[in-house]
Amino acid sequence: MKHIPRKRFGQNFLVDVQLINAIVSAVSPARGDTVVEIGPGLGAITEPLLKRVDHLHVVEIDRDLIARLKRLHAPERVTIHEGDALAFDFSRLAPGQGGLRIVGNLPYNISTPLLFHLAEAAEHVRDMHFMLQKEVVERMVAGPGDSDRGRLSVMLQYRFDLEWLIDVPPESFDPPPKVDSAVVRLTPKPREALLPVQDWTVFDRVVTAAFSQRRKMVRNTLKPVCAPADLDAVGIDPQARAEDLTLEAFVALANRMAATPV
Ligand code: SAM
Repeated sequence: MKHIPRKRFGQNFLVDVQLINAIVSAVSPARGDTVVEIGPGLGAITEPLLKRVDHLHVVEIDRDLIARLKRLHAPERVTIHEGDALAFDFSRLAPGQGGLRIVGNLPYNISTPLLFHLAEAAEHVRDMHFMLQKEVVERMVAGPGDSDRGRLSVMLQYRFDLEWLIDVPPESFDPPPKVDSAVVRLTPKPREALLPVQDWTVFDRVVTAAFSQRRKMVRNTLKPVCAPADLDAVGIDPQARAEDLTLEAFVALANRMAATPV
Protein backbone atom coordinates (compact mmCIF):
# COMPACT_ATOMS: atom_id res chain seq x y z
CA MET A 1 0.00 0.00 0.00
CA LYS A 2 1.29 3.45 -0.91
CA HIS A 3 2.39 5.51 2.09
CA ILE A 4 0.75 8.93 2.24
CA PRO A 5 3.40 11.41 3.49
CA ARG A 6 2.55 12.79 6.94
CA LYS A 7 3.14 16.48 7.37
CA ARG A 8 3.23 16.26 11.15
CA PHE A 9 6.30 13.99 10.89
CA GLY A 10 8.01 16.29 8.36
CA GLN A 11 7.83 13.61 5.69
CA ASN A 12 9.47 14.85 2.49
CA PHE A 13 10.99 11.78 0.91
CA LEU A 14 14.17 11.97 -1.14
CA VAL A 15 13.71 10.91 -4.74
CA ASP A 16 16.85 12.31 -6.42
CA VAL A 17 19.10 9.28 -6.91
CA GLN A 18 22.21 11.31 -7.76
CA LEU A 19 21.78 13.35 -4.61
CA ILE A 20 21.21 10.25 -2.48
CA ASN A 21 24.44 8.78 -3.87
CA ALA A 22 26.26 12.04 -3.17
CA ILE A 23 25.07 11.97 0.47
CA VAL A 24 26.17 8.36 0.95
CA SER A 25 29.54 9.15 -0.70
CA ALA A 26 29.96 12.10 1.67
CA VAL A 27 29.34 9.79 4.63
CA SER A 28 31.65 7.18 3.06
CA PRO A 29 30.84 4.46 5.59
CA ALA A 30 33.10 1.46 6.17
CA ARG A 31 31.51 -1.97 6.69
CA GLY A 32 32.02 -2.12 10.45
CA ASP A 33 31.06 1.48 11.26
CA THR A 34 28.29 2.09 13.78
CA VAL A 35 25.87 4.13 11.69
CA VAL A 36 22.52 5.48 12.94
CA GLU A 37 19.97 6.91 10.56
CA ILE A 38 17.37 9.27 11.98
CA GLY A 39 14.04 8.99 10.16
CA PRO A 40 14.66 6.26 7.55
CA GLY A 41 11.18 6.80 6.08
CA LEU A 42 10.78 4.79 2.90
CA GLY A 43 14.47 3.93 2.85
CA ALA A 44 15.90 6.38 0.32
CA ILE A 45 19.19 6.64 2.26
CA THR A 46 18.75 3.41 4.24
CA GLU A 47 19.02 1.12 1.22
CA PRO A 48 22.27 2.51 -0.21
CA LEU A 49 23.75 2.70 3.30
CA LEU A 50 22.92 -0.98 3.81
CA LYS A 51 24.93 -1.84 0.73
CA ARG A 52 28.00 -0.41 2.47
CA VAL A 53 27.65 -1.35 6.13
CA ASP A 54 27.15 -4.68 7.89
CA HIS A 55 24.58 -3.30 10.28
CA LEU A 56 22.49 -0.17 10.60
CA HIS A 57 20.55 1.42 13.46
CA VAL A 58 17.49 3.47 12.55
CA VAL A 59 15.27 5.68 14.73
CA GLU A 60 11.76 6.15 13.36
CA ILE A 61 8.56 7.52 14.92
CA ASP A 62 5.91 6.63 12.31
CA ARG A 63 4.29 3.25 13.14
CA ASP A 64 3.35 2.51 9.54
CA LEU A 65 6.91 3.11 8.39
CA ILE A 66 8.24 1.00 11.26
CA ALA A 67 5.98 -1.90 10.19
CA ARG A 68 7.25 -1.52 6.64
CA LEU A 69 10.89 -1.48 7.79
CA LYS A 70 10.30 -4.64 9.81
CA ARG A 71 8.88 -6.40 6.77
CA LEU A 72 11.83 -5.40 4.62
CA HIS A 73 14.84 -5.85 6.89
CA ALA A 74 16.08 -8.67 9.09
CA PRO A 75 17.05 -7.61 12.61
CA GLU A 76 20.60 -8.86 11.95
CA ARG A 77 20.97 -6.09 9.39
CA VAL A 78 18.81 -3.30 10.81
CA THR A 79 18.02 -2.49 14.43
CA ILE A 80 14.83 -0.45 14.50
CA HIS A 81 14.50 1.95 17.43
CA GLU A 82 10.85 2.91 17.58
CA GLY A 83 10.08 6.36 18.88
CA ASP A 84 11.02 9.98 19.06
CA ALA A 85 14.61 10.88 18.13
CA LEU A 86 14.29 13.89 20.45
CA ALA A 87 14.04 11.52 23.40
CA PHE A 88 16.50 8.93 22.12
CA ASP A 89 19.74 8.38 24.02
CA PHE A 90 22.24 8.17 21.15
CA SER A 91 25.17 7.67 23.53
CA ARG A 92 23.99 4.13 24.31
CA LEU A 93 24.76 3.01 20.76
CA ALA A 94 28.29 4.39 20.77
CA PRO A 95 30.78 1.61 20.10
CA GLY A 96 33.52 3.41 22.01
CA GLN A 97 34.68 6.94 22.56
CA GLY A 98 33.61 9.07 19.62
CA GLY A 99 32.61 6.27 17.27
CA LEU A 100 29.03 6.98 16.29
CA ARG A 101 28.15 8.10 12.76
CA ILE A 102 24.71 9.72 12.53
CA VAL A 103 22.93 10.38 9.26
CA GLY A 104 19.52 11.74 8.35
CA ASN A 105 17.25 13.71 6.13
CA LEU A 106 15.80 15.29 9.23
CA PRO A 107 12.16 16.19 9.82
CA TYR A 108 12.37 19.97 9.43
CA ASN A 109 9.69 20.69 12.04
CA ILE A 110 11.96 19.44 14.85
CA SER A 111 15.42 20.04 13.38
CA THR A 112 16.55 22.80 15.75
CA PRO A 113 15.66 21.01 19.02
CA LEU A 114 17.05 17.82 17.52
CA LEU A 115 20.40 19.51 16.79
CA PHE A 116 20.59 20.74 20.39
CA HIS A 117 19.74 17.23 21.60
CA LEU A 118 22.41 15.66 19.39
CA ALA A 119 25.00 18.22 20.46
CA GLU A 120 24.75 16.73 23.94
CA ALA A 121 25.96 13.41 22.58
CA ALA A 122 28.94 15.01 20.79
CA GLU A 123 31.58 13.12 22.74
CA HIS A 124 30.15 9.81 21.45
CA VAL A 125 30.04 10.94 17.83
CA ARG A 126 32.56 10.63 15.01
CA ASP A 127 30.51 12.68 12.58
CA MET A 128 26.97 13.60 11.54
CA HIS A 129 25.60 14.24 8.05
CA PHE A 130 22.22 15.91 7.82
CA MET A 131 19.82 17.25 5.25
CA LEU A 132 18.27 20.37 6.70
CA GLN A 133 16.34 23.41 5.69
CA LYS A 134 18.90 25.75 4.09
CA GLU A 135 17.91 28.54 6.46
CA VAL A 136 18.84 26.35 9.42
CA VAL A 137 22.24 25.57 7.87
CA GLU A 138 22.78 29.31 7.36
CA ARG A 139 22.12 29.81 11.07
CA MET A 140 24.39 26.92 12.03
CA VAL A 141 27.43 28.25 10.17
CA ALA A 142 26.88 31.98 10.78
CA GLY A 143 30.00 33.65 12.20
CA PRO A 144 30.40 36.91 14.16
CA GLY A 145 28.77 39.87 12.39
CA ASP A 146 26.34 37.68 10.46
CA SER A 147 22.68 38.52 11.12
CA ASP A 148 21.85 34.77 11.00
CA ARG A 149 24.05 34.15 14.05
CA GLY A 150 22.11 32.93 17.07
CA ARG A 151 22.20 30.51 19.99
CA LEU A 152 22.22 27.56 17.56
CA SER A 153 25.37 28.91 15.81
CA VAL A 154 27.29 29.45 19.05
CA MET A 155 26.29 26.18 20.71
CA LEU A 156 27.09 24.07 17.64
CA GLN A 157 30.28 25.92 16.71
CA TYR A 158 31.51 25.44 20.27
CA ARG A 159 31.51 21.66 19.84
CA PHE A 160 31.69 20.98 16.11
CA ASP A 161 33.45 21.87 12.89
CA LEU A 162 30.69 22.52 10.37
CA GLU A 163 30.91 21.98 6.61
CA TRP A 164 28.22 23.00 4.17
CA LEU A 165 28.36 20.19 1.60
CA ILE A 166 25.49 20.27 -0.92
CA ASP A 167 22.71 22.70 -1.89
CA VAL A 168 19.44 20.89 -2.55
CA PRO A 169 16.38 22.20 -4.42
CA PRO A 170 12.79 21.31 -3.44
CA GLU A 171 12.39 19.06 -6.53
CA SER A 172 14.72 16.50 -4.95
CA PHE A 173 11.88 15.49 -2.60
CA ASP A 174 8.39 14.05 -2.80
CA PRO A 175 6.40 16.01 -1.81
CA PRO A 176 8.67 19.01 -2.46
CA PRO A 177 9.11 21.20 0.63
CA LYS A 178 8.38 24.92 0.32
CA VAL A 179 12.00 25.75 1.16
CA ASP A 180 15.51 25.11 -0.14
CA SER A 181 17.63 22.55 1.65
CA ALA A 182 21.28 21.76 2.22
CA VAL A 183 23.44 18.88 3.41
CA VAL A 184 25.84 19.67 6.22
CA ARG A 185 28.55 17.71 8.04
CA LEU A 186 29.21 18.17 11.76
CA THR A 187 32.49 16.82 13.10
CA PRO A 188 33.12 17.07 16.85
CA LYS A 189 36.22 19.08 17.67
CA PRO A 190 38.90 17.14 19.51
CA ARG A 191 38.48 17.51 23.26
CA GLU A 192 41.78 19.42 23.55
CA ALA A 193 40.55 21.98 20.98
CA LEU A 194 37.45 22.89 23.03
CA LEU A 195 37.64 26.22 24.83
CA PRO A 196 37.46 25.46 28.56
CA VAL A 197 34.00 26.32 29.89
CA GLN A 198 33.87 26.33 33.70
CA ASP A 199 30.13 25.90 34.07
CA TRP A 200 28.05 24.80 31.10
CA THR A 201 24.80 26.05 32.66
CA VAL A 202 26.22 29.55 33.04
CA PHE A 203 27.54 29.50 29.46
CA ASP A 204 24.11 28.47 28.17
CA ARG A 205 22.43 31.15 30.31
CA VAL A 206 24.74 33.88 28.97
CA VAL A 207 24.30 32.85 25.31
CA THR A 208 20.52 32.49 25.68
CA ALA A 209 20.19 35.90 27.35
CA ALA A 210 22.40 37.59 24.75
CA PHE A 211 20.23 36.37 21.89
CA SER A 212 16.91 36.83 23.70
CA GLN A 213 16.31 40.14 21.91
CA ARG A 214 18.43 40.06 18.81
CA ARG A 215 18.21 43.74 17.85
CA LYS A 216 19.25 45.05 21.25
CA MET A 217 22.72 45.85 22.52
CA VAL A 218 24.34 43.31 24.84
CA ARG A 219 24.52 45.85 27.67
CA ASN A 220 20.70 45.54 27.75
CA THR A 221 20.14 41.89 26.92
CA LEU A 222 22.85 40.72 29.32
CA LYS A 223 21.64 42.85 32.25
CA PRO A 224 20.00 39.83 33.97
CA VAL A 225 23.27 37.86 33.93
CA CYS A 226 26.10 40.39 34.33
CA ALA A 227 27.06 43.99 35.08
CA PRO A 228 28.57 46.39 32.51
CA ALA A 229 31.90 46.05 34.35
CA ASP A 230 31.94 42.34 33.50
CA LEU A 231 31.61 43.14 29.81
CA ASP A 232 34.50 45.62 30.09
CA ALA A 233 36.61 43.10 31.97
CA VAL A 234 36.46 40.58 29.12
CA GLY A 235 36.71 43.19 26.36
CA ILE A 236 33.12 43.05 25.10
CA ASP A 237 31.80 46.32 23.65
CA PRO A 238 28.56 46.97 25.58
CA GLN A 239 27.05 48.49 22.45
CA ALA A 240 27.64 45.35 20.39
CA ARG A 241 24.80 43.00 19.52
CA ALA A 242 24.94 39.32 20.39
CA GLU A 243 25.49 38.42 16.73
CA ASP A 244 28.80 40.37 16.78
CA LEU A 245 30.34 38.35 19.61
CA THR A 246 32.88 35.62 18.99
CA LEU A 247 32.75 32.22 20.65
CA GLU A 248 35.83 33.24 22.67
CA ALA A 249 34.01 36.32 23.99
CA PHE A 250 30.99 34.27 25.11
CA VAL A 251 33.28 31.76 26.84
CA ALA A 252 35.32 34.49 28.55
CA LEU A 253 32.18 36.19 29.88
CA ALA A 254 30.59 32.92 31.00
CA ASN A 255 33.76 31.88 32.82
CA ARG A 256 33.95 35.25 34.57
CA MET A 257 30.31 34.92 35.65
CA ALA A 258 30.86 31.31 36.77
CA ALA A 259 33.70 32.54 38.98
CA THR A 260 31.57 35.40 40.42
CA PRO A 261 27.98 34.13 40.51
CA VAL A 262 25.17 36.67 40.71
N1 SAM B 1 15.04 9.35 5.16
C1 SAM B 1 13.84 9.44 4.37
C2 SAM B 1 14.15 10.11 3.06
O1 SAM B 1 15.19 10.76 2.98
O2 SAM B 1 13.36 9.99 2.14
C3 SAM B 1 12.74 10.20 5.11
C4 SAM B 1 13.08 11.61 5.51
S1 SAM B 1 11.69 12.53 6.11
C5 SAM B 1 12.26 14.17 5.78
C6 SAM B 1 11.82 12.48 7.87
C7 SAM B 1 11.67 11.13 8.53
O3 SAM B 1 11.79 11.28 9.94
C8 SAM B 1 10.35 10.44 8.31
O4 SAM B 1 10.54 9.08 8.10
C9 SAM B 1 9.58 10.69 9.62
O5 SAM B 1 8.58 9.74 9.89
C10 SAM B 1 10.72 10.62 10.61
N2 SAM B 1 10.47 11.36 11.85
C11 SAM B 1 9.73 12.48 12.01
N3 SAM B 1 9.75 12.90 13.28
C12 SAM B 1 10.55 12.01 13.95
C13 SAM B 1 10.98 11.91 15.30
N4 SAM B 1 10.60 12.79 16.23
N5 SAM B 1 11.78 10.86 15.64
C14 SAM B 1 12.16 9.95 14.71
N6 SAM B 1 11.79 10.02 13.41
C15 SAM B 1 11.01 11.03 13.04
